[in-house]
Amino acid sequence: MEAGQNLIGGGWRASDSGATFVTVDPTNGETIGVVPDGGATDIDAAVTAARDALGDPQWARMSPSERARLLWRVADLLERDAEEIAVLETRDQGQPLRIARNVSVAGAVEHFRYYAGWCTKIDGRAPAHSRADALNYTRRVPVGVCGLITPWNFPLLIAAWKLAPALACGNTVVLKPAEQTPLTALRLARIFIEAGFPPGVVNVVTGGPEAGRALVEHDGVDKVSFTGSTEVGRSIVRGSAGNLKRLSLELGGKAASVIVGDADLERAVAGNLQSGIQNSGQVCAASSRFYVARPRYEEFAERLAKAAAAVQLGPGQDPDTQMGPVVGEEHLSRVDGYVRSGVEQGAALLTGGARAAGPLARGSFYLPTVFADADDGMRIAREEIFGPVLTVMPFDDLDEVAARVNDSEYGLAASVWTRDLATAHHLADRIHAGCVRVNMVAGIDPAAPWGGMKASGWGREMGTEAIEDYTEVKSVWIGLE
Ligand code: NAD
Repeated sequence: MEAGQNLIGGGWRASDSGATFVTVDPTNGETIGVVPDGGATDIDAAVTAARDALGDPQWARMSPSERARLLWRVADLLERDAEEIAVLETRDQGQPLRIARNVSVAGAVEHFRYYAGWCTKIDGRAPAHSRADALNYTRRVPVGVCGLITPWNFPLLIAAWKLAPALACGNTVVLKPAEQTPLTALRLARIFIEAGFPPGVVNVVTGGPEAGRALVEHDGVDKVSFTGSTEVGRSIVRGSAGNLKRLSLELGGKAASVIVGDADLERAVAGNLQSGIQNSGQVCAASSRFYVARPRYEEFAERLAKAAAAVQLGPGQDPDTQMGPVVGEEHLSRVDGYVRSGVEQGAALLTGGARAAGPLARGSFYLPTVFADADDGMRIAREEIFGPVLTVMPFDDLDEVAARVNDSEYGLAASVWTRDLATAHHLADRIHAGCVRVNMVAGIDPAAPWGGMKASGWGREMGTEAIEDYTEVKSVWIGLE
């Protein structure tokens, strides 16, 4: 069993209160780790350490190329321990080991390398102003202490996509991972120490909502970058008002997928199933409502249901597993509640609709579920389920479907499946979402911006956009007379 401690100011510490909580393997409900249940005083200590480190010459005067070397070293160490860390992620989160290796750990490595490259390229500019008596130049400077709050669906990867740009820009950080999946964040903390980061630059405090709230409300924090639910995102906007800290919010989604009449149906079925059930549907960008051109609707729904019924469920560490459990029992009940609402509201359940029976009944396994004959007003078509529940509906023309896709409080991601370039551009233009995919499965890359419109959030992670989000612009005037 893993026994973790918080990393604060370069030292390992239990929580101030001595409280702990356990984390379980969702494939069988067994306890696999015990970690500190951090509260306001632990967060305060971590924020103080991060503030001290901001001014510490070891960090403040570190050259960009030295910072780059440290970040690159984190990537190397992650790669060295990749298999061990992937297994840890699978045990804590439930994701198939293939995903833990190829998406979570490999993706984290890529983020550290990508932003290591950025350290030496964060330039200002010399604006073409009209004053002959002065020189003006701008610099991008660190925002300061960044509070990073992460969810449980991709614990390591999401921590990496916040830590890497925050540190590349010269900030210091306090990371608060989700209480369901704290283990890889603490493992990553060990890597930061081994890589040689100065004490207090990276702090990790495990805990639940109380620790998150303390970080959001702390006046010593200059920016919060949060990934999680829209509901908590709203409370963070309110909680951060005290010192008007900067906010990046990556929130919920209800991604639509439009399957146009000319789409390659075989590819569309396989791609949409993968986009819908990868990581058991616990992906903010997972496609979950499918609008299919009426002439292909029945065929698509039947083929999707058949493919969903054939998905191999099992423990993440079994190489034959295509889909693991959902993160835990509480979440399974929530997913099942949505499925019951779909049945009650009159949608046709084509496959799934229950937890897995037999040997998998011990774990939190939910069968891939496909509904047809739904309408846009049903909860399964409107609300984020964050589970393997796919809802298929017909459409008649492109204007109609664009309006229906946009009739959502969310605007995170959407997909279009068509062989016609004009249709693809037309829909990509009309859809209000931070990301539109054409003929491809959901995925990310550190170089491309990621984030949502409307209630899916504020700001963008990854790419140049994250560099802008983790810096402030300073304008310097020099008198020339
Ligand atoms: P959540 O909002 O319940 O929790 C996320 C984190 O916030 C956890 O660390 C939690 O402890 C903390 N927290 C809870 N209450 C808090 C409060 N009042 N103040 C501060 N922190 C608080 O979300 P979750 O259930 O862990 O994750 C699922 C959600 O995350 C889904 O809505 C999903 O769409 C979203 N998500 C979004 C993205 C994206 O990039 N847009 C990516 C992954 C997940």
